[in-house]
Amino acid sequence: MFADISFPISSYQVFSYKVPDHLKSKVTIGLRVMAPVRNRKVQGIIVAIKDASDYKGNIREVDSLVDESPVLDDQLWNLILWLADYYNTPLGVAAKAALPANLSTKYKPRSQLFVKAKTGGEPLATNAKSQFALLDHLSEKNEFVPASTLGAFASNPIEVSRKLAEKGWVDLLEKPVLPDLTGFSLNPIHKKVRFTEYQDMALDQLKVSMDGDEFSPFLLHGVTGSGKTEIYIEAARHGIKQNKTVIMLLPEIALTPQIAGRFRAAFGDDVALWHSKLSQSARAWTWKKICAGDYKVVVGARSAIFAPLKNLGLIVVDEEQESAYKQDSPDPRYHARDVALMRGKIHGATVVLASATPSMESYYNHINGKFGYIHLPERFGGAKYPHVHVVDMIKESEETEVYGGIFSRSLLDKIQDRLDKKEQIILLHNRRGFAPVLRCDDCGEVSTCPHCQVALTFHKKGKYLQCHFCNHIQRNLPNKCNECHSINIKLAGIGTQKVEDELIGKFPDATIARLDGDVIRSGLNISEVLQQFSDGDIDILLGTQMIAKGLDFANATLVGIINGDTGLYLPDFRAGEKVFQLIYQAAGRSGRGRIPGEVVVQTYNQDNAVIQCATQLDLKKYYNICLDERQALSYPPFSWIVRLEVRGKSKNTVEEAAARLKSRFKNTPKGIEILGPAYCYREKLRDYYRMQIVLKSKKQYDPNGGKLHAYYKSIIKRNNGANLKGGLRLIVDVNPVSLL
Ligand code: ADP
Ligand code: ZN
Ligand code: ZN
Repeated sequence: MFADISFPISSYQVFSYKVPDHLKSKVTIGLRVMAPVRNRKVQGIIVAIKDASDYKGNIREVDSLVDESPVLDDQLWNLILWLADYYNTPLGVAAKAALPANLSTKYKPRSQLFVKAKTGGEPLATNAKSQFALLDHLSEKNEFVPASTLGAFASNPIEVSRKLAEKGWVDLLEKPVLPDLTGFSLNPIHKKVRFTEYQDMALDQLKVSMDGDEFSPFLLHGVTGSGKTEIYIEAARHGIKQNKTVIMLLPEIALTPQIAGRFRAAFGDDVALWHSKLSQSARAWTWKKICAGDYKVVVGARSAIFAPLKNLGLIVVDEEQESAYKQDSPDPRYHARDVALMRGKIHGATVVLASATPSMESYYNHINGKFGYIHLPERFGGAKYPHVHVVDMIKESEETEVYGGIFSRSLLDKIQDRLDKKEQIILLHNRRGFAPVLRCDDCGEVSTCPHCQVALTFHKKGKYLQCHFCNHIQRNLPNKCNECHSINIKLAGIGTQKVEDELIGKFPDATIARLDGDVIRSGLNISEVLQQFSDGDIDILLGTQMIAKGLDFANATLVGIINGDTGLYLPDFRAGEKVFQLIYQAAGRSGRGRIPGEVVVQTYNQDNAVIQCATQLDLKKYYNICLDERQALSYPPFSWIVRLEVRGKSKNTVEEAAARLKSRFKNTPKGIEILGPAYCYREKLRDYYRMQIVLKSKKQYDPNGGKLHAYYKSIIKRNNGANLKGGLRLIVDVNPVSLL
């Protein structure tokens, strides 16, 4: 018996191994095994089992099994096969994305020894001092205590406890130490839910679909505060009643605590959380329990789409427009929304893509009738839309003669007003750090990261410069310009830390909290801050895009967007869409309860169409403008894109290789256009130069993208997989979320 094994290495080959007799009855497809590769043992996954092997060389043996039983069912295995093919990734690498390393169904949590005194043992040796001391203490306690806490009575309390047990003086108890799995959810709030007519209709549609057991994708387009989350919960309840399971995807760690709290309130311990801040033991334990079928619902970030749930009935992708659903590295560069659709197809499940600001792709799919459409046009409970004020910062500067200020007078007044009324304020500023750049006043040169062509950001706390791409930290600040040696170098631009400083200065009595990538290092911090804000213990919550969407705080009545223009002029086809969504979503955090809300958007581009539509909360108008633009330039959703990036440490070789690669793209099929090679917008990252070739295929000629896939694969396959010669790397990015 032979097994074909795929390893998570950058090669397309599958290797044959002999299955030793003692494993023959156990091996199946989808099982992870250890097998020798050169002189190491490497974990791989069995992709085929055969009676004979065509391989003529020396065939080695499978070493051992990683899993006791296959962790995959057929459906998940088919998903992995699709993942590998669609994202042009070796099977082993794709499998690794779905089956995280270090996880095993054999995982056993560490156990802890408990000890309790009893009577009637054998006499102890008179010189066994610590045995007597420990026993005395235990007799007084008369309950099970963790042996490891008894260090005051014996230097090795565990060993002494075992001795006492041998002599019959104590009972021992080994208990597994279960990791805390609730740490990341806000306190469950049990509220009475009475659905509105719109909610009822929405739910009915979903129930009918779930009862049909057939793949059905929906776009759930509900304005901010329309009660989408309550619908997810009820739909999940419907599924669970029929013994089905549910995946609830969230794009952002900051959204997890609140939604997890709401799901916990509804389903208690049937809910598992799956996100990047889980401790290793919590991760291993959760995964094992999911495999064992102990959970009905998995709430989590991108990778939760691979949760090995059986009998999957419903997948919800909340804030489906978010680019965080796209994995950037390592390979496979998958988009969790697309994987969700494919997984739904394989399982015959209902897939709900939900948002107040759908992605252009999903909006377009709905227009074309590919997705069912569920619309919630009103806020729940008669809550009004917030009133949006646009502040023209150019005019503001002229009138106040303060240039580059952070706060307009109007925003300051409104903050003061809310503080007086004991209402809460959310401030959005989509740049972390203190000052985004250190710039020479004489020649304009900006301090950049030595590894990336990206400006370094100054962090005031700790006084250092940091690259937000590779995390390079520079502690000694330059005292003169690299270029012209002038000493006139200044911090320029505004980051969240600077906004916070100025806020503290202006509102010394207010309680202010900041949430951004720098604060978020420890996961617990986020839920603490959100809980405090929810409890009303924080007046002003300041943060980056992570607080702009999904959150629900009834008493937040003012949202201020410090700079609505951030990202507006990035040279990317999605720049406008992202700015629109950010402003619209952030505005949606205001006035969700009984008190009407207000929003202040500060901008230097008052006349820009994106800013205008967003501040008028006119989604339809903007989406039409945006779709027209995309169509004119054949960008998604009117085309499929594959981005081929050549990376290397030497500029010359990168340029040569990219040109050579381009020259191989001949006989281009109709409807396919090839752009580049050109340097990426961020030309150098982490010491690697980057050039890209962009392939666009018009949907008109290529409705499901199959033509483009076949074409580019036929060309790079001859390149022996993704490896180029001379230390260069070829990165294949299917459906990239940006071309930066
Ligand atoms: P969305 O996810 O669409 O932004 P939420 O689900 O957060 O909206 O709903 C906004 C607020 O209204 C939440 O506090 C939610 O609990 C409440 N809510 C929504 N629908 C109902 C309902 N049918 N009964 C009671 N409260 C509801
Ligand atoms: Zn200079
Ligand atoms: Zn860097």
